Amino acid sequence: MKDFKLEVVSPNVKISDDYIESTIEYQTSHVRKLNDGKIQIAPETLSLNVRTDRKVPKLGVMLVGWGGNNGSTLTAALEANKRKLKWRKRTGVQTANWFGSITQASTVLIGHDDEGKDVHLPMNELVPMVDPDDIVLDGWDISSLNIAESMERAQVLDVALQDQLKESLSQLRPRPSIYDADFIAANQSERADNIISKPKYEQFVQIRKDIQDFKKSSGVEKVIILWTANTERFSNVEEGLNTTMFELEDSLRANKSEISPSTIFAMASIAEGCTYINGSPQNTFVPGVIELAEHHGVFIAGDDFKSGQTKLKSVLVDFLVGAGIKPVSIVSYNHLGNNDGKNLSAPQQFRSKEISKSNVVDDMVESNSILYKPNEHPDHVVVIKYVPYVGDSKRAMDEYTSEIMMGGHNTLVIHNTCEDSLLATPLILDLVIIGELCSRLHLKNNKSESSEWVSLKPVLSLLSYLCKAPLVPAGSQVVNSLFRQRAAIENILRACVGLTPNSHMALEQRFD
Ligand code: NAD
Repeated sequence: MKDFKLEVVSPNVKISDDYIESTIEYQTSHVRKLNDGKIQIAPETLSLNVRTDRKVPKLGVMLVGWGGNNGSTLTAALEANKRKLKWRKRTGVQTANWFGSITQASTVLIGHDDEGKDVHLPMNELVPMVDPDDIVLDGWDISSLNIAESMERAQVLDVALQDQLKESLSQLRPRPSIYDADFIAANQSERADNIISKPKYEQFVQIRKDIQDFKKSSGVEKVIILWTANTERFSNVEEGLNTTMFELEDSLRANKSEISPSTIFAMASIAEGCTYINGSPQNTFVPGVIELAEHHGVFIAGDDFKSGQTKLKSVLVDFLVGAGIKPVSIVSYNHLGNNDGKNLSAPQQFRSKEISKSNVVDDMVESNSILYKPNEHPDHVVVIKYVPYVGDSKRAMDEYTSEIMMGGHNTLVIHNTCEDSLLATPLILDLVIIGELCSRLHLKNNKSESSEWVSLKPVLSLLSYLCKAPLVPAGSQVVNSLFRQRAAIENILRACVGLTPNSHMALEQRFD
């Protein structure tokens, strides 16, 4: 674990052995549209205490789909970084790193020095966070290959690196998992040789036992479960089936076919008090699961890693709409040749991905009533094709056509070679590290005598930055804009150490 180096010179921040406690003025504004067409804005200020538990637990992460491209790449990257491995490539010597992870490879602006120059701090030095080197991995896969064999099958990492990792990764073997041919593509059946053949309720009991067993045998203090297995088709949401937690529990006991493997994993994870993160697009979080998580006060987060094309979209559309330019047509083509692409070549699994990718521009479009009338949207089409030869090197091609001044047009064409698993793996790391941190953050209203420390709501919307289709608590605004999502993480971390949100006003530099 890294030492906590920060010293904050402020009467509003107390740092003890156990906690970092800060008092902040939290400012929002409440807006009302009046009958006479006027807009009334009322700025509001709350005095809040923010408390961060400094004790970083020994973290265990269990991956569903451990033997997949992402699962094996994460395992390899953890090991390679821990051992600070180097390997030769055609272009020179490469050293293991975590590029693409905001917690490990990005910085936060914390202020200015004596010369007025910006000072940045690595994000993971702002508050105590889990060090990747201390993470213990475990997991499940319907394929029985050990993780060294999975890494080889994935064809993601340089062979010279694989050779250094082979021995240690061959010791790791995924636990048998829940396989239901009705939920993933039929073309996955040939790898399903490691499965729990039991009725659904007993599968749920087995997963709970696996989590308990991992905790006991590894000595980890906290476990997070993350789905990086194949994309499932959407499950039906029906009254009597899964719309409440009681319906869901009854349906599980009754072995109802519409309860998906991922929903069973989420239920088992919640029952064990473990945060559950969904890295794929399917609707694991049916209403009954959300109610279950809220009832037990256990975190859930998702859906679908935001790694390549969608990440760029949530930047570009934000830029265009923010610049007063009107995107009218967004067409995205993808082709990829990894096992994810093979699974997505089946219509129902593709549909899950299409839904997940399609809503990403909604909030930005709705934000600008000058450009768009109510319910007006750009045409938005997503195509995904399976082309085995390109392997994990996914190609994403986007065409953005926008209307500019006086009926003119601006067309942007982007070709993005994604190297899919090398983009997604750092996101998995961030999801578990920030997800873990969230359970150590508490808030209290400073003004009210009776107020108690409260934790974040079970639906962890703070992880939206990392998700294509962010799940948010009922009644909350969905935010897709990457900059707003990042600012939320950055400013909450700053609040933990008593700093105000980064306003970028720089008044001291602009006025005499
Ligand atoms: P992959 O096909 O290589 O790996 C998935 C693994 O899950 C396979 O090893 C498979 O055997 C296993 N599996 C399938 N069903 C299972 C079950 N019920 N229980 C346990 N294991 C099961 O895919 P990947 O490239 O690693 O991607 C994983 C998931 O992440 C996919 O759903 C994908 O859509 C999603 N995703 C990936 C990216 C990215 O890689 N850039 C981005 C967003 C979302």
